[in-house]
Amino acid sequence: MSTDIQIGGTVNQPLRDLELRREELFRQIENLGDFRRGIISVNYRKCGKSNCACARKGHPGHGPQYLWNVSVGGKTQARNLPLGPELEKVQQEVERYQSFVRLSQELIAVNDQICQLRPARTIKDENELEQLKKKLRRNFVEKRKRK
Ligand SMILES: [Zn+2]
Repeated sequence: MSTDIQIGGTVNQPLRDLELRREELFRQIENLGDFRRGIISVNYRKCGKSNCACARKGHPGHGPQYLWNVSVGGKTQARNLPLGPELEKVQQEVERYQSFVRLSQELIAVNDQICQLRPARTIKDENELEQLKKKLRRNFVEKRKRK
């Protein structure tokens, strides 16, 4: 994992620390378990029957009802969750998703810092350097043409 992080014979400690943090983040993501998007809302609902207790003023309505729902790409999914193991399961899945988002964001930030700190390779051979310049120039010219 830790490749070429020595500069002038001394270990680049900040870079090494960041690499260790990155490994730890990958490990945590790997061990997250099942996760899913969405939120669980708690609802009270009036059934609409005029002779029902919920029709009385001040009655909160039937409930609480636990509704998991998510919107992905304009499509909404929803499911009622009975109070019990099903609600517990989905609650954990939704919480793990939040952890996944948090870990991913840190992973992106850590990688960004790693890129910042990692030096480019050194090329001592003049010929090799010229070849590389030629290749790079060609790459970027081709990219511009394609647009
Ligand atoms: Zn009712």
